[in-house]
Amino acid sequence: QWARIRARLRAEYGETAYKSWLKPLTFDSIDNGIVRLRVPTRFMRNWIESQYRDRLVTLWTSENPAIEAIEIDHAGARPATPEITPVMTTPEPANGSEETLSLDFSAPLDERYSFDRFIVGKPNELAFAAARRVAEAQAVPFNPLFLYGGVGLGKTHLMHAIAWHIKQTSPEKKIIYLSAEKFMYQFIRALRYKDTMSFKEQFRSVDVLMIDDVQFIAGKDSTQEEFFHTFNALVDQNRQVVISADKSPAEIDGIEDRMKSRLGWGLVAEIHSTTYELRLGILQSKAEQMGCAIPSKVMEFLAHKITSNIRELEGALNRLIAYASLVGRDITLETAQEVLHDLLRANDRRITIEEIQKRVAEHYNIKLAEMHSARRSRAIARPRQVAMYLAKQLTTRSLPEIGRKFGGRDHTTVMHAVKKIDELKGTDSSFAEDVELLRRMLEG
Ligand code: ADP
Ligand code: MG
Repeated sequence: QWARIRARLRAEYGETAYKSWLKPLTFDSIDNGIVRLRVPTRFMRNWIESQYRDRLVTLWTSENPAIEAIEIDHAGARPATPEITPVMTTPEPANGSEETLSLDFSAPLDERYSFDRFIVGKPNELAFAAARRVAEAQAVPFNPLFLYGGVGLGKTHLMHAIAWHIKQTSPEKKIIYLSAEKFMYQFIRALRYKDTMSFKEQFRSVDVLMIDDVQFIAGKDSTQEEFFHTFNALVDQNRQVVISADKSPAEIDGIEDRMKSRLGWGLVAEIHSTTYELRLGILQSKAEQMGCAIPSKVMEFLAHKITSNIRELEGALNRLIAYASLVGRDITLETAQEVLHDLLRANDRRITIEEIQKRVAEHYNIKLAEMHSARRSRAIARPRQVAMYLAKQLTTRSLPEIGRKFGGRDHTTVMHAVKKIDELKGTDSSFAEDVELLRRMLEG
């Protein structure tokens, strides 16, 4: 069992995270429905508790439904009395040199991420203008600036650009940029070294605080609490705060309502998915930066085909250029098709949950908003279930992910919908035809 679970964790979290956190985790025993796991240090235990516990529980219970709880001990703890002392009060002598708390929290900035290199189009013009305003303004224009949008659409790029600009024009200002994940990591470290005072001081004395991918702290209660205090302290002192997330404040699950509301107090700017024009503009500018002549036919082809996000688009371009220079061939439409066939295929087949919701809502003549609403009348709930069913069939999204896209529903609701629709298809042939028709339309 444990071997299987470890293999899963490794696949899910990637080699680096696995090596640092999960590999050192060893299996101790199972009794009375309690799984005991063990790690070398208390610090690691706290980290695993906060990061991986939920996933561990899910994996264990799916392996063995009799499992009721998981306990993670560190090597120093006596096995019979697992550590339950709250992290805050654990006496832990800071053992000097090798792992002292760093006082420079900020993450390094990528120098390619500047305003100059950001191509502006309809989907990102508001976010861009807002970021520029924050970077250039003398007084805080809106607080916080909240940027949100899907992965690979330029949130991190804009945040770095703000930091670069301020560093250049006002070098005396103190800026902290970091991912919410790092924020949490630093916070947990500070707790460990009983050094929360300097942690708080660091964060509360900045002129500009930027936290990237804030959705990461959803459900992490103590980190969320600390973040909330830091946030309030800074906003109250009129210091600029910039936040990014993959969703709007109201849509992030697992954060408190008071926090959602405060996150939305300033300017909320969405970065929408790309348009053909923006993609083409980005390709042209990147090719030029790399000093590479690429036929416009090829760029148009890529802009048409690679629609998922900008990171993938860049990746495609890099691969194409690398290939052409390695084998010493010109870049043609044929080379592009050959070199990028896997990417092109993946982009072809990608049906989004949003598309499904839209099609299904149209088909049953209900409002798109009902896909997310709490209403349960049959006329609304049934189409919603059909959309969930199709999302499960036609996308690679997991049940919880699908649930989230339907107004933050639970994965069991999605599971129930899938079952229900399967059942109905079995008993009602005109309904089955209807669903099949929808599926064929979506698959194009
Ligand atoms: P996110 O943080 O939203 O996931 P990133 O900011 O990391 O996305 O962007 C992914 C890649 O795409 C980066 O290399 C970034 O430079 C590039 N990129 C995103 N938007 C633009 C844009 N408008 N113009 C040029 N490059 C962009
Ligand atoms: Mg990012």
